[in-house]
Amino acid sequence: MIPPLLDTFKRLITNTGPISIAHYIAESNAHYYARRDPFGVAGDFITAPEISQMFGELIGLWLADIWIRAGRTEPVHYVELGPGRGTLARDALGAAKRYGLVPSTHFVETSTALKALQLELHPQAIWHADLSTVPSDGPLLIVANEFLDALPVRQLVRTQQGWRERMVGLADDRLVPVAGSASMDAAVPADRRDAPEGAILETSPAAAAVMYEVAGRLAAQGGTALFIDYGHAEPRFGSSLQAVRAHRKVDVFSAPGEADLTAHVDFSALASIAQSRGVRWLGTEEQGRWLRALGIEARADALAAFAPAQAAAIHTARERLTGEGQMGVLFKVMGITAPDWPDGAGFGPTA
Ligand code: SAH
Repeated sequence: MIPPLLDTFKRLITNTGPISIAHYIAESNAHYYARRDPFGVAGDFITAPEISQMFGELIGLWLADIWIRAGRTEPVHYVELGPGRGTLARDALGAAKRYGLVPSTHFVETSTALKALQLELHPQAIWHADLSTVPSDGPLLIVANEFLDALPVRQLVRTQQGWRERMVGLADDRLVPVAGSASMDAAVPADRRDAPEGAILETSPAAAAVMYEVAGRLAAQGGTALFIDYGHAEPRFGSSLQAVRAHRKVDVFSAPGEADLTAHVDFSALASIAQSRGVRWLGTEEQGRWLRALGIEARADALAAFAPAQAAAIHTARERLTGEGQMGVLFKVMGITAPDWPDGAGFGPTA
């Protein structure tokens, strides 16, 4: 059976010409997430909170610690962007509660299928289509794990005729990347225009817009935000767009809406945007180092002592989250706070 979104794209491109990569990703992922639970062994991919409760617990402790040192302001609101099954929120809020932090719960989510799953674990939560409607009457504790990587990227490609937008066109009835017809030279920073033919410059206007809004909120009403994703700390050339289906990488253009499309997050660009809004950038740390600084080893030992039959599984999960060849180095944790909030654990030279 031919996936229906593929047909729709083919018709659209035949009738009106190539579409941008950003348009392609936005439509594909909206379709992909709307109707399914993509996580776990039976799904397409697995995320850190689904690997172990330790991940969400340490995030909850991090939030409680910084909130206590910032003066325990109430009301305070937990806001999660793209909460998936709601697992991270459950583990984080459970851990935070032991330290007196009991915020109201707000989820920014667009998927109907995932909202239904989140409701089972969080009957008291309030859902939002975007950040504009989250409360403005107290500090926000914002968490986003593997959210920014699902947002559309725009790609510019260097051709013989100069820079062009990278688009999706049709060749022999298949979707293929093509260069757009309009010049995009003016969109490329002067110091990067001289790249060799074929070079691709990737940016995410959607991720930039989220960071702009989050940072503006923190500067205005206090609070902190953690963004956890795979990505790089320095700008670079090349396409990082990939499609994953049933735990395997597949062709980005072969099955739109049936595979998860993601791109690396450019943390350096996001840190500059945050700082331009007046918030403090705490750092962008490797996930493994950050979790170790927060005490994941002691937490794993304690869980293993409590459930000896699970000890091997608990240590395998810890290794998956922190190991160098696993999620420990490729995944980064970026922290930002309101200007008058203190430093957070796990960032800086002691991490
Ligand atoms: N944080 C979860 C899920 C990551 S998958 C975890 O770590 O397991 C990406 C999540 O972002 C899903 O919940 C998806 O439905 C949501 N999402 C994707 N694009 C979105 C958008 N534009 N607005 C709001 N939520 C979005």
